[in-house]
Amino acid sequence: MELGKNLVEGKVNSFINECKKLGIKVTPQRIAIYKELTNTTDHPSTDEIFKKIRTYYPNISLTTIYRTLETFEKLGLISVVNILYNAARYDANLEPHHHLVCVVCKKVEDFYDNSLANLNIPKEALLDYKLLGYTVQINGICTECRKKET
Ligand SMILES: [Zn+2]
Ligand SMILES: [Zn+2]
Repeated sequence: MELGKNLVEGKVNSFINECKKLGIKVTPQRIAIYKELTNTTDHPSTDEIFKKIRTYYPNISLTTIYRTLETFEKLGLISVVNILYNAARYDANLEPHHHLVCVVCKKVEDFYDNSLANLNIPKEALLDYKLLGYTVQINGICTECRKKET
């Protein structure tokens, strides 16, 4: 799903400001990578972003995309969606939210639920860990994949 143009431009502008604050270079390629990521709710992989950007930056390498996403992630500009059985997937949506994952087509969708914001996580489960946050990931089979099955 693609977001509205104005919304994307607003996000790209705040991204540029954030980069300046963090003191990292704002190159046209970096903006393009961020824009592709923030323009979708599909949680794309490095490969998927690469395929899109290559259409207008034919000289860009997969390594550049990979390193850029890694840099963004380390700086807290994007987050990685971890799916144990798949390549890293990225998310420009830093609002607290959760994921529905289709185990068949590997689609990742967002969902929001306030009651999940204050989960009572047992101390025993955390051991000595300091809790920084959590994301609930629901694994299932999406409507389209269920239709194909029957
Ligand atoms: Zn599916
Ligand atoms: Zn998400």
